[in-house]
Amino acid sequence: MEQYFSGLSKEEQEKINNYKLLVYICNGTEKEIRDWFETINIAGVPLNKQELLNATHSGDFVTLAKATFSNSRSPQLQKWCSYINGNVNRQDILHTALKWVAKGEENIGGYMSQHRYDKTIEELKTYFETVIDWAKAVFGVPKNEMKGLEWGELYELYHSNSYNPTLLQKRVDELYADEYLTNKKGIFEYTLGGETDARLLNIRIFEESVKKTVYARQTNAAREQHISNCPECAKGHENVRIKIYKITEMDADHVTAWSKGGSTDIDNCQMLCKTHNRLKGNR
Ligand SMILES: [Zn+2]
Repeated sequence: MEQYFSGLSKEEQEKINNYKLLVYICNGTEKEIRDWFETINIAGVPLNKQELLNATHSGDFVTLAKATFSNSRSPQLQKWCSYINGNVNRQDILHTALKWVAKGEENIGGYMSQHRYDKTIEELKTYFETVIDWAKAVFGVPKNEMKGLEWGELYELYHSNSYNPTLLQKRVDELYADEYLTNKKGIFEYTLGGETDARLLNIRIFEESVKKTVYARQTNAAREQHISNCPECAKGHENVRIKIYKITEMDADHVTAWSKGGSTDIDNCQMLCKTHNRLKGNR
């Protein structure tokens, strides 16, 4: 229940006004302060990584950065939260902004230390806005699965490429409609990278048209050579060695295993009889 101080009873107000706060003033090197915070961090609600960093590097830079990125009334917040996971009050937006500008989680402390006494957060702010604006320009209205992606990294990797946003967004929508595509979050990097890395999509299932093409190719070749159209059966004994399976008796198999980076395209597809496909799958 939300309450206001002015709405509390006199006794309650006095209780708050007269509450004795225990204040420690600590002096020390940055390392000593950090160790200190980590020690007192055991009690109560533990500070998260960014909160600890803010305490360690407190100064003008942190004050300014928090005013922008840790303000739950910021008019920009809704837009930012389409791309970033987390809680503004627990410094998650600020953490992401710092991670992007510092080019990695591990560089945040160094960046904050370097800028600790700066009177401006221009670089942090500009870089953050550039990344978000780029994502918005390229992919248009944000989709749910965009939230929490490493937009800073994607920006670094792909912003110098030119894209046609209309075509790109149309392609994204097509991929969204694909029921076999289990990793929708991967669609954005997949399309940015020119659709070369199918592992981003977790696609493991061959399209029907691919299966039909491979089946026809394998079966024609097998008939000419009087061997089975299952390449594994063709290595076997008399009866199965020449057996021609119907397409419904076969399954598509990744020649190079999907788990080993084999792609789900026609060049990496072979049809095996159901028995051999199952055996290979169990290996
Ligand atoms: Zn077989």
